Amino acid sequence: MKNNHPKFIDLRSDTVTKPTQKMRQAIYQAKVGDDVFQEDDSINELQEYGVKIFAKPASLFFPTGTQAGLCTLLSHCQRGDEYICGQDSHIYKYEGGGGAVLGGIQPQPIENNDDGTLDLAKVTQAIKPIDFHFAKTKLLCLENTIMGKTLTMKYMEQAKDLAKSKNLNIHLDGARIFNAAIELKCDVRDILKHFDSATICLSKGLSAPIGTLLVGEKDFIKQALRWRKMCGGGMRQAGFMAAAAKVALEESPLLLIEDHKKANSLQKLLKKRAKLKAVAHTNMVFFEVPASHCKPLQDDLLKAGFKSFINPYTRIVFHKDIAHQEVLTLAKVILDYFA
Ligand SMILES: *Cc1c(COP(=O)(O)O)cnc(C)c1O
Repeated sequence: MKNNHPKFIDLRSDTVTKPTQKMRQAIYQAKVGDDVFQEDDSINELQEYGVKIFAKPASLFFPTGTQAGLCTLLSHCQRGDEYICGQDSHIYKYEGGGGAVLGGIQPQPIENNDDGTLDLAKVTQAIKPIDFHFAKTKLLCLENTIMGKTLTMKYMEQAKDLAKSKNLNIHLDGARIFNAAIELKCDVRDILKHFDSATICLSKGLSAPIGTLLVGEKDFIKQALRWRKMCGGGMRQAGFMAAAAKVALEESPLLLIEDHKKANSLQKLLKKRAKLKAVAHTNMVFFEVPASHCKPLQDDLLKAGFKSFINPYTRIVFHKDIAHQEVLTLAKVILDYFA
C-alpha cells in the first residue's frame, strides 16, 4: 500500500480526520467574501455561532491553533510580560516558542502533575512581585484536555480564583474542550466560564479540514484581529473552510463519545498484557513499549494497515475515521507481537 493509501487506519493523531460529506457539501455551497473587509458571510456566521455556543462576547476564526495561541499571548501580554503555563503545555512546548520569539513574552513553565494540573501553590510562588528586576506576570494558561487527561471543574475554579486574586488573565487551550466536556458530563460553557479566553480546535476530533476559534471579550478579540492580520492570518475568501467548521461544530461534538469508547475498549483488551501498563484518557490510550521493540512493533502495525508512532511511551489517538471493529484487530496485532 502507498503510504497515503486511504485504507490505512491512522492512530497517530485526531488531526488526520477527513471532512464528512456534509462538510464537503457546505464547502461547495459556501457564500464567501473578503474576510479582511469582514465581508465573508460564512466566516461571520461561524463566528456568530461561536459566540452563541461558547457564551463569550466575541470569537475569531484562525487557520491554526498555533497562530491562535500566538495571537492570544500577543493580545494578553506586552513585550517584557510573562505567562505561566505547564511544562508540557502545547503553547509552551509545541509552538516553537512563538510568544518569546515574536512577542518578547517570557514563559514561566511549571511542571505538570500526573493528572495534568499545575500545583497552584507553585503557580502562586511563580507570580512575580511588581519590581523592575522581574518580568510582569500577566497570564495563566491551562490546557484541557492535556495528554488526554481532563482537568476537573473544581480545579479550574480554583485556578480562576487564584488568577483573579492576583490580577492575572486566565486562558484555556481548549483544543479538545469537547472531549473534556464529555468526561465532565457538562456543557462547554460550564468550562469556559472560568476563563477570560480560550482556543477551540475545529480540525481534530471535530474533523473540519482546518481551523481554530479564539473566544473572549470584545476588546481582546479586537486586539487578536490586529495580531492575526500581522501574522499573515487575514485569509480573504476563507469562508469555504469556515462553512465546513460550522458543520463540524454542529455535528461532531456528540460523536466524540464514540472515540472515548474505542479508547476504553483498547485499554481493556491491552490489560491482558500487564507490562504494557495501558491507560485510557478520553480519546487516547497510552502504553509502555521497551525501546528495542518500538520499531518492530510499528512495522508489524504498518503491515496490518495501521499507521502509528510507537515510542517508549506510546500514544494511540482515536477519532471518527477508526471504526469500532478495528480496535479488536489493533489489540490483536499488539498482543500477538508480544506473545
Ligand atoms: C493541536 C493542538 C493545538 C493547535 O495546533 P495546530 O496544529 O496549530 O492547529 C493547540 N493545543 C493543543 C493542546 C493541541 O492539541
